[in-house]
Formats: sequence, structure tokens, C-alpha cells
Amino acid sequence: MKHCAIVLLLAMLLCVGCSTGDDATPTPAPDILDLTATPTPGEEATPSPTPTSTPTPTSTPSPTPTEAVMKEWDTSNLDTSWIDPEKKLVAFTFDDGPSQYYDDILDILEEYGMHATFFVWGRNYNSSYEDVMKRVVEQGCELGNHTWSHPYLSKLDEAGIAQEIEQTRALLEELTGITNFLVRPPYGDSNLKVQVSVNAPLINWSVDSADWNNGSFDSVYTNVMSKVKDGDIVLMHASYSFTVEAVRAMIPELIADGYQIVSVSELAAVRGVTITSGHAPYTNFR
Ligand SMILES: [Zn+2]
Repeated sequence: MKHCAIVLLLAMLLCVGCSTGDDATPTPAPDILDLTATPTPGEEATPSPTPTSTPTPTSTPSPTPTEAVMKEWDTSNLDTSWIDPEKKLVAFTFDDGPSQYYDDILDILEEYGMHATFFVWGRNYNSSYEDVMKRVVEQGCELGNHTWSHPYLSKLDEAGIAQEIEQTRALLEELTGITNFLVRPPYGDSNLKVQVSVNAPLINWSVDSADWNNGSFDSVYTNVMSKVKDGDIVLMHASYSFTVEAVRAMIPELIADGYQIVSVSELAAVRGVTITSGHAPYTNFR
């Protein structure tokens, strides 16, 4: 029965990650990884071998790996007093920086008093970005962890995953004094092994700007503005000037439509959602 309970727990965890209908993700083909294959719709309902009624010896319960790492994300130090919870919210996220465009994006956010989350690709950092990385936090925006070398995390072993996360986490701590960061898995790629190996909540998205896919100002603008709803997390990249220009156009229009643009942690906190590590990637907070 204990085995059954664990399987059920794992099935529930996988199920949570399956409602990602809008993810036009650069998702890899599912890996075949014994217990930890990438969840696909329907798969989570597959029954495990029926437990027999044979009584199993009672032993001291030990936590399953998933239970062991389901640590709550602490937002108690987050100042959300500027956010009106009655208004619509959308979290903007910018992956793959730091880049030459961080300052431009921050200028736009500052002009409108809005926030966003910047998921950092550690290997892209050099000391010329030190000031702008600090500016992200000083401006009330959020830095996140996008791994060190941008691998498909599901293809690494547990130690490899931990190393990818830790190397960037340590860099971000050195720059900001903050000790833990939300994680955006590269390509949105994760599986159960990744979930249990990362000591922070995993954040994917519900609206993909697709700026990474031969994008343009028009395509980014249309992809976001035609799909965005209250509580969405929008995927963009700090890699393209046209994304910056689309952000410049979208933010005042979203504000006029009643939105506030916030960081991912702010969105979760204001919506009263307690997010945890050891959980399937979160895609929105509706
Ligand atoms: Zn990326």
C-alpha cells in the first residue's frame, strides 16, 4: 500500500504539470527515463501494478524524495503593497540574459513602475553586467536561475542537474546577497528527476512570445497580446531588440487594459498561491 500511495503522489504531481496547453514550447522529445519520463497527457493516469492484499511489514516511514524537497517558496520579504489585487496581473519573464538589452527593458519597466523576472543563463555573465544585474533587484524586479550552461536538464543525472543550478545560484548570491531563486528550466524541459533535484520552484509559462523562433516585433506583439489573460506568465528572451520594442509597445496597452506587470514571485504571492520546490513546473497563477 505504501508503494501505491507513492505512485499516487507521483501521479498527482505529474498531473499538475499537464495543463500547459499554450506551451508552444521548444520541448524535446520525451526521454525514456525509467520512472521519470516526461509527462504526457493521459500518461499520468496509467495504473501501476495492482497492489496485492498481502500485508506488508510495518516499518518506520521515510519521506519519499518528492516529499523531502517540497519546500515552500518564501515571499514574506516581498513588498507587494504597490500591487492592486483587484486588478489583472501578468508576469513578464526574460530568459537567457544577462544581455545588452537588460538596461533597455529595465528603463521601460521603471518608466511605468512595473516589474518582471529575469532568468539568468549563468555562463552569459561577465563583470560588465555586474551593475545591471544589481539594478534588476534594486528596481524591485526579480532575478531567476536559468542554469549555468542551458542544457536539457532531463538528460543530466541528479548531480549534473544540481551543479547546473548551484553554479548560477552562487553567482546570483554573490551579486545580490539573495540566497535562492526561482528556476526556469531551459526549453521548459523537466521531469520528475529534475523536480526532485532542484531546490527551488520550477517556473514555465502559459504564453510564449515565440521571439526565439524567428520572431519579429509583429509576431511577439501578436503572440502576447492575442493570448494574454489575467494570471499568465509570458515567456520572452532578453536577446532581441525587437522583443524590447514589443515590450515598449505592449506595456502601456496592457496598463490601459487594466493590467499590472509583475514578477513571478509577486504574481504567486498576490494570488495567494504557495509554490514549492519538488513540484511540476508552474505555468500561471490564475
Ligand atoms: Zn533559455
